[in-house]
Amino acid sequence: MKEELLKEFDAWVMKMSAYRMALSLIGVDKQTLAPKDGAPYRDERSAFLAGELFSVETDPHMAEVRRELLADGTISAEKRREIELLDKEIGHILVVPKDVFVQYAQLQAHAYEVWHQAKDAGDYSLFEPVLKQVIEASKKMYAYRNSGLPMYDQMLDDYEPGMTMEIYDRFFDRVRERLVPLIRKVVEAEQIDDSFLKQPYPVGKQKEFMNRYLLPYLGFDASWGYQNETEHPFTDIICENDIRVTTKYLENNVVSAILSTVHEVGHGYYGHDVAPEYDGTVFNYGISSGMHESQSRLLENYLGRTLPFWEENYPKLQSVFPDQLGNVSVEEFVRAINVGRPSLVRTEADELTYPLHILIRYEIEKGLFNGTITAEHLDETWDAYYEKYLGVKAPDARQGILQDVHWSDGSFGYFPTYALGSAFAAQFVWAMRRDIDVDELLRTGRFAEIIGWLKEHIHRYGCRYSADEIMRMATGEPFDPDCYLDYLEEKYTALYNLK
Ligand code: ZN
Repeated sequence: MKEELLKEFDAWVMKMSAYRMALSLIGVDKQTLAPKDGAPYRDERSAFLAGELFSVETDPHMAEVRRELLADGTISAEKRREIELLDKEIGHILVVPKDVFVQYAQLQAHAYEVWHQAKDAGDYSLFEPVLKQVIEASKKMYAYRNSGLPMYDQMLDDYEPGMTMEIYDRFFDRVRERLVPLIRKVVEAEQIDDSFLKQPYPVGKQKEFMNRYLLPYLGFDASWGYQNETEHPFTDIICENDIRVTTKYLENNVVSAILSTVHEVGHGYYGHDVAPEYDGTVFNYGISSGMHESQSRLLENYLGRTLPFWEENYPKLQSVFPDQLGNVSVEEFVRAINVGRPSLVRTEADELTYPLHILIRYEIEKGLFNGTITAEHLDETWDAYYEKYLGVKAPDARQGILQDVHWSDGSFGYFPTYALGSAFAAQFVWAMRRDIDVDELLRTGRFAEIIGWLKEHIHRYGCRYSADEIMRMATGEPFDPDCYLDYLEEKYTALYNLK
């Protein structure tokens, strides 16, 4: 009896992953190569597939199978966790009446379109009424869960299981206390010249560096990975041994495509290096948004922006761009790619000021859902926060409240995971440096050995363990935000010769 239920459960997990694979592939294709005019026709069929997936996920018979298995005291701890993970995820969908769910999906699609138009026009008043609707509809969706927990805690937990306002408050309080004064000192210090990064760098040459040098250095292998171009770089894990990363080349910014590729390859390794024994199971994915972002930012910031990384790679970049970089030393280059400067747009922010962009979004979201901030004139609230924490003011809403897509589809609670990812990464690197000589490995092109450490301590587990458990296993300590803030303080104090 139990064996049969287990077989049924595994077959159902495989069936869901088949639909998800199809939808992922269609999604990657849409954002890279697919001809634009086919969009409405493809979208109609994709919606049909998504509806089929919804029916498979919410199959009442499978809910019964899960219930019976969980009631069986003899199933393994691993199987129990697999079932519990899915039960939680699907439970959130099951409590919402189907018509409400469909209406919400329609509102998301509509809000996305309106957001796009409003952003193009730089006019927040177009988006404001729809944003209010999305906020109200989100509240309604969460109310169905009847969980008794504060609404924003539930939202945070959806993206980063186990996280609450209490934990994030502690984290962001430390970020505010330590980074606001540090950024002020950096602004007042003598500025670093990074103008040479912004000369014309022909895209064809950038591609030559990418394919001939960077991807091979990173070990991103065509047997399991593929890189494409897109508007907003992302990574998609299609299935075992099929990882798609994307990049975007900017003619006047030589490091944009390079560092965003290093970032996406970090996501790619996390998707690719889950242990083979988890193939086809629930565990075959990263554990959370924050953990995923920790792996991408670890590669981008903690490896890709260091002198040892460029000691190996810079001569190759110089050989591709002798006119632009022939007279720039590797030290000057590395200083330039680490400049810290308050700015308006999150996705273009540097490593130092980035967490404050997230702090602002966290405080606004928290206020919206605990009632201390109203959706009325939210653009003004946004601008006031930017002035307060970063000392900058957006000339229009395009560079202000309309810059991010996340609120149009109701992804409240997602932003904080971006800052958490950087902080997790700092602690992983701290532990990694105790075990292996990271700088020497970077300098001598032995990148695979660094990935080997990450695979052994993080990637191979997929979502078998929680982020908190993985942090403790990999570093021997619970999560400590000061590890991250110490790193930033040390790095920027040296970079800007601060006292
Ligand atoms: Zn990322």
